[in-house]
Amino acid sequence: MQKELEFYLQHRKKLLAFRYIGFLTGWDAQTEAAAGSIAADSAYLATISQMEYELSTDPQLEQCVDVLYEQRNNLDETLRHEIEVMHKEIADTKKIPAEQYVAFNELTAKAYPVYVQAKQTNDFALFCPYLEKIVDYCRNLTVWLGTDTVKGYDVLLDMYEPHYTQVKYDVFFDVLRQRLVPFVRQKTANVPPVPAWAQQRFDVDKQRQFCKYIRKAMCFDDNFGVMKESEHPFTSGMGTDDVRITTHYYENDLVSSIFSVIHETGHATYERQVDPRLNDTLCGGGASLGLHESQSRFYENIVGRSLAFWQAHFAKLQQIFAPQLDGVTVQQFVAYINRAQASFVRTEADELTYPLHIMLRYEVEQALIGGKLQVKDLPAYWNERFTQYFGITPPTDTLGVLQDVHWAYGEMGYFPTYALGSAIASQLYHAMNKDFDVEASLLSGSTQQINRWLGEHVHKYGSAKYPDEILRLATGEDFDPNYYVDYLISKYSN
Ligand SMILES: [Zn+2]
Repeated sequence: MQKELEFYLQHRKKLLAFRYIGFLTGWDAQTEAAAGSIAADSAYLATISQMEYELSTDPQLEQCVDVLYEQRNNLDETLRHEIEVMHKEIADTKKIPAEQYVAFNELTAKAYPVYVQAKQTNDFALFCPYLEKIVDYCRNLTVWLGTDTVKGYDVLLDMYEPHYTQVKYDVFFDVLRQRLVPFVRQKTANVPPVPAWAQQRFDVDKQRQFCKYIRKAMCFDDNFGVMKESEHPFTSGMGTDDVRITTHYYENDLVSSIFSVIHETGHATYERQVDPRLNDTLCGGGASLGLHESQSRFYENIVGRSLAFWQAHFAKLQQIFAPQLDGVTVQQFVAYINRAQASFVRTEADELTYPLHIMLRYEVEQALIGGKLQVKDLPAYWNERFTQYFGITPPTDTLGVLQDVHWAYGEMGYFPTYALGSAIASQLYHAMNKDFDVEASLLSGSTQQINRWLGEHVHKYGSAKYPDEILRLATGEDFDPNYYVDYLISKYSN
């Protein structure tokens, strides 16, 4: 096994180097590169991605992984996990017929511009034949990749969040349907108007100044990361010492950039606090989409939308924007950032109504993949359920079934991870409160104690364990969605 191990470790260095190039070029394209330079750059990127593909499908790598997989009980724990994950990836890739895979990539490349046009012109029929083929492919995937224990829609769910399948999600969304839907209907029946002070123009330089201040309050060390601007905020990086985020400033919205910065710095804090010994492995970074999102939402919603947090920071906001916020109390501000209302678009939804948008998408995907729903009947199905959950009916498909790009990319099974993140955050919050009073810790003006707890119980593992294992280690329990609904109902009852 020693020969295979040496080859594997050398090969992994190369894989990491390509990952680094991918990170840097992606970052550059979204933050610095001029629009006109993208076309020229993409020719180099095609060559690089071809080289990377050859590296990751090298037959000798496969042989080594096979040998190491057979001997996995003799490997250290981290390497064993890494080899198990890679072994499954290689096996899965082989199960997909190559010509079907190529045809699917061509299909989604063609589907994307059609989707954009369909959304712009509110024309579902235009996109329908493409989506039918995409759903067909996803159904085929469940056949190719299915096993005795993971089959049907579970195959797709497991691709995005390992070990989270319909057994867990059905319980999760049943709890939401039964406990949250009636509460949301009641809470969103009378929404107070947006206060006049929030409808001013807010100088972007002052927003930048405040966002820098908030990064400090979250203890982010600028020696190991930068904050830039992009159309859509995101976090990116390589290892624990180069973690970058972006935000977007809107002159007519005081809080959008603030919550983007808190959210992305939450992702960044996760990456920063992974055990640095994992930097040279493929087990660095977050354990899954859902777990990553649990960290960003923990900071954005549980921390950033709490009264205690703003009791520590509102005076600074008032000072920077003086005299625009004179006369506004911290309670009024916190009420404003926690407004809940029924709305059509997922990405603009508030903390309370957001999970219902995801529940609807889960039901749609489950019905499509299970063969209980035809693509052509999708708009009617969507609008009927939407009305049931939110009490309002989308006036167009643009504001309804056509709003998200994910399906045009062929991504089915992805959406549930968004809601899972918030639910896991609440469960972690419950566990954290057993160790110390989380809200009281925020009055100090810093998230240091929270960072330390999450570092010790979640972040340090990187992706060297599966997300459900990490949750169990951190909370002593399996996933339980009731913590989430308890948290939401208690918060929005006040
Ligand atoms: Zn996020």
